[in-house]
Amino acid sequence: MAQRITILSENISNKIAAGEVVERPASVIKELLENALDAGAADIIIETAAGGRRLIKVTDNGHGMSREDAMLSVERHATSKIRNDEDLDSIATLGFRGEALASIASVSRFRLASREPDSLEGTEIIIEGGRVRDVKACGMPPGTVISVEQLFFNTPARLKFMRSAGTESGHIGDSIARMAISRPDVSFTWVDDNKEQLRVQQGDLLRRFTRIIGKESANALHPLNIIKGDVSLDGFISGPATVRSTTANMFTYINGRFIKDRVVQHAIMQAYRGVIDRGRYPVLALFIKLPPGEVDVNVHPTKHEVRFRNQSLVHDLIQGGIEDLLRASPWLSGARQRPIMTADASPPLRDYQTSIAVAVQNSLGIKGHNPTFHYIDNGIPSFSVPLHDAPIAGEPVVPFRANEAVESSLSYFSTMTIIGQFHGQYILCQSGSELVIIDQHAASERVAYQRLQKQWSSGGIESQRLLFSETVELAFSEVATVERFKKELLVSGFELEPFGGNTVIVSAVPHLVAGMEAIRLVRDIIADLAKMGLTAAFKHVLDHLLSRIACHSVIRGVRNMDSREITELLRSMDDTDFAASCPHGRPVSHVISLGELEKIFKRT
Ligand code: ADP
Ligand code: MG
Repeated sequence: MAQRITILSENISNKIAAGEVVERPASVIKELLENALDAGAADIIIETAAGGRRLIKVTDNGHGMSREDAMLSVERHATSKIRNDEDLDSIATLGFRGEALASIASVSRFRLASREPDSLEGTEIIIEGGRVRDVKACGMPPGTVISVEQLFFNTPARLKFMRSAGTESGHIGDSIARMAISRPDVSFTWVDDNKEQLRVQQGDLLRRFTRIIGKESANALHPLNIIKGDVSLDGFISGPATVRSTTANMFTYINGRFIKDRVVQHAIMQAYRGVIDRGRYPVLALFIKLPPGEVDVNVHPTKHEVRFRNQSLVHDLIQGGIEDLLRASPWLSGARQRPIMTADASPPLRDYQTSIAVAVQNSLGIKGHNPTFHYIDNGIPSFSVPLHDAPIAGEPVVPFRANEAVESSLSYFSTMTIIGQFHGQYILCQSGSELVIIDQHAASERVAYQRLQKQWSSGGIESQRLLFSETVELAFSEVATVERFKKELLVSGFELEPFGGNTVIVSAVPHLVAGMEAIRLVRDIIADLAKMGLTAAFKHVLDHLLSRIACHSVIRGVRNMDSREITELLRSMDDTDFAASCPHGRPVSHVISLGELEKIFKRT
């Protein structure tokens, strides 16, 4: 029999490895930036041309390489970062596989120049398609310069998969952004086709992050710092008003390494569940630190996925940490602390439709008319409905008395003048010279949640027995969840009993949701609990249950409310401690000041 098997040449194996490591120009950038950071660079310059197809060049001022190291660095499995398999369990560098340079050099025209600070000259190595063409001494400042020209020139199949220069540049930009956010202590400059695309100086994380995601988001970010044992979590996360429709602005890192991990992503989205709509994603930069032995980053050559030794610990810490922060609603504190307009300070108050009407009238040159506002939303006409008991035009609204306003911010909502309801979803009010818009659903939900909390702390959630027990079919794993969380379910008003197989009997539900679609609520709740992880703390679970019940207890969507109902809601809102205990942290009210309106109407 003839011999069928041969060992592949070094060059071919490098090309094969390149298929995994070097997917596109952005992956080359990622590898080169990792190397520069591992070399302790404080200043990194990236130059690209034609979306990285023509040129990718990274210059760093790190510790450089000696001639011997430089020559070794382009060999496969050549690394200075680990030595033996124990080191694999305690990786503190971004690289460790010793594959990148060899792979990149095998599929491009490659030039490496490097100099150690105490060496008089640098070494330059030229490689074409994996073959070393030249090695010589060169003059250069300390550090390393690597340039990659004509990427994939010798792998036509790969070349075909390259997108337009613009698309590739976009991916390059993303790669650089991820690195730049991870290391605010390092300055980065990126020049694409001779145009400077990014220049960030050394600074702190918030500055670096907002520089990359955009200044307008800066105010919406809230710091998160948690340490639990030897696991820590820090960074910045956005409140519910600042969301995006993709995950592109979710920057997550494990031990300084950017990752896109299922577990981490799931934990984050769980925490934001209910706070933001489906299909929306928060903006965040989250740094998870844990002992290197707790996480395996050697799952995939690009190192974007990781494996945790204790998955649920990490999951629960992330979810719990973000939830706690969201529950504290840091974005509300500003609105809540707004000074209430007093009689002296407020401009003359007039209504109907408050000062807006006046503003509009003035800007239109109309005097003494009551304009009717028609808002067209997606072609569906809708209008603000003035309530019958809204003040009559021209008649002054009795302003707050100064001492009243100071005395009690507890009457903030109930002392507002109701303008009307908008779109069956929002309540419009006037408070001093401010227009206050209230999301009626969010407000009712929060009021309900607060009531449940009160009930809970004064003896338990009121439960109602169903006239006829109902059965509900769950997944098998969910039946186990019912068993596991039986206690929490019971104290929040649910009586559920496994009935063999995947069936559960529901014989009582919280009073607040009795008569509503109890089965749907039960399903929702069990699905939620199943994802919570078995280690979730009682208080945490209960909180979650109460917010779910509250959510189901209010009618969603468009609903006309009469003035009595609105007054009642505003009154209950004053009894509600928003900042301390909102279920989801979705904003309840939004204030538009007269000044802002005047800006819109160009009156300033
Ligand atoms: P790895 O980063 O996994 O070790 P690479 O192929 O990316 O593998 O790099 C091989 C080695 O070359 C590194 O371990 C490092 O010693 C050296 N090296 C690469 N880039 C640089 C750089 N910019 N500055 C200093 N040394 C570098
Ligand atoms: Mg590397």
